Amino acid sequence: MEMKNQVKNYLQTNDLDIGFQDLNDLVINKQNCVFCGSCISLCPRIGMNEKEPKLLEYDPECSTCFRYCPRTYFPAEMFEKELFNGDANKSYSIGHYQKLVAAKSNNETVLRIAQNGGVVSSLLIYALDSGLIDGVLLTDKDDNWCPKPVIARSPEEILSCVGSKYTISPTLITYREAIREFKLEKLAFVGLPCQIHAVRKLQLSSPLSEVYGKFTLIIGLYCFSNYTYNLLKNFVQGELGIPLRTVKKFDVSNGMFYVYKKDGSIKQVPLKMTKQYTWNSCQYCKDFSAEIADISIGNIGASSNDWNSVLLRTDIGVKVFNDAVKTNKITISDNIDLLKIEKIAFRKKTRITQIDEKTLNAMRLLGISEFEIKTFTSLMSLGQASESLLSEAMKLDKNLVINALKSLKQREWVISSNGIYISVDPTLVINNEISKLRKTFLEKIGKLNNEVLPKLESIYVRNNINQIRHKEEL
Ligand SMILES: Cc1cc2nc3c(=O)[nH]c(=O)nc-3n(C[C@H](O)[C@H](O)[C@H](O)COP(=O)(O)OP(=O)(O)OC[C@H]3O[C@@H](n4cnc5c(N)ncnc54)[C@H](O)[C@@H]3O)c2cc1C
Ligand code: SF4
Ligand code: SF4
Repeated sequence: MEMKNQVKNYLQTNDLDIGFQDLNDLVINKQNCVFCGSCISLCPRIGMNEKEPKLLEYDPECSTCFRYCPRTYFPAEMFEKELFNGDANKSYSIGHYQKLVAAKSNNETVLRIAQNGGVVSSLLIYALDSGLIDGVLLTDKDDNWCPKPVIARSPEEILSCVGSKYTISPTLITYREAIREFKLEKLAFVGLPCQIHAVRKLQLSSPLSEVYGKFTLIIGLYCFSNYTYNLLKNFVQGELGIPLRTVKKFDVSNGMFYVYKKDGSIKQVPLKMTKQYTWNSCQYCKDFSAEIADISIGNIGASSNDWNSVLLRTDIGVKVFNDAVKTNKITISDNIDLLKIEKIAFRKKTRITQIDEKTLNAMRLLGISEFEIKTFTSLMSLGQASESLLSEAMKLDKNLVINALKSLKQREWVISSNGIYISVDPTLVINNEISKLRKTFLEKIGKLNNEVLPKLESIYVRNNINQIRHKEEL
């Protein structure tokens, strides 16, 4: 509770003297922005171009944009404690959950047009009809598949947003409008794991209203990676020659990228061909299954494309879902492969984020071996890990990893406690190594000056005494 109040206080403080410039320096220019739309919605002085927020006018540095950005301070542990209260199962790769099931909508119209089993849209329609929510922030699209954030207030509006858009969308941009214009009191949100972080902050304390815009249901979508709009414009339309207006649906499944056309034809290409269009900050993202949503929904683990896999996490998530099942809106099944979901989530959590070439060269210069560098960068990507987890993530022999950790620990590149290793900030360690080198170098020069040079001189004199005398006589 104390931690929750501290976080609330932090979110409510507006005398930090930080503003958009700090957000720009720390998040946007560092290519860490997930373009969630939160800062743009919270501050009328912030606008956007097609890929990032932009300051439009004078900035009074109230710090709201900075505090609510999901990529600045995010106290994950506090949220986990608040939301799950130690009740749910905890899995390293998919987080806390109470139940995992396969599910699909019982509504034929939803099933026909939805991305997978239509559970997202059916749940939302049920929540709206039963009065749990009075609106939901969703992602629609225009004729060219450009994502369009919308506020849906009717089943028809929810249905118009079905289907996955594989492009980053500033879905939260409509939050202000939902409050100021529509005066919605109980909101739902559907979005990607990174967007859910922003929504949880707003749920804890909103700078726009204490009465309106309360998030009562938060649905997260599984997500391994997302893309810039260039995936569609340059790749699908440009390279594959498919006009975007003719596309009915996109899908990513089993390592392939699918384009379903309205005329019934299907084009499929290996997913690796889309890699260059990946949204920058996705490469640092570790959350596959939207770990702090009320309910997380995807397809992987289900028996076929027209089913969803559903992780029920919080009490509110469990209740809404069970009620929708009881009232026959959704069908469930036990035919679900937990291991498959955990495997892909583990892959995302443990994918190695390469540190920049200059740091790598500095490490080489300091005599850190290539294997130790790999061990260090892997640990840095994971945040922290045990020896077993690290060797599993690196897919390398545990003993080799243990030896590398030992050597890195001796040189203070990693620290460990209770069997868990943590990497030390490389800037700190490199500075530390430089000081050590300087100290050793100065000691060596001192030794040369005080001990070696005078000795050498006397030896030289003794050995060459005749020559020296001869020179003196001359
Ligand atoms: C970028 C992206 C990557 C995904 N990656 C995976 C994956 O790797 N594995 C997996 O199993 N599932 C993944 N999913 C989830 C999957 O594609 C379906 O969204 C999910 O199974 C729900 O299906 P449904 O039939 O219930 O959804 P529907 O009933 O069709 O509803 C889809 C909902 O998704 C929302 N939405 C669509 N695009 C976006 C977007 N870009 N940003 C925010 N919200 C959006 C819409 O508002 C809509 O409400 C991904 C989804 C997206 C958008
Ligand atoms: S992540 Fe969201 S809040 Fe942060 S800078 Fe980007 S758009 Fe703004
Ligand atoms: S990979 Fe992560 S950062 Fe990228 S869209 Fe998905 S949840 Fe957001």
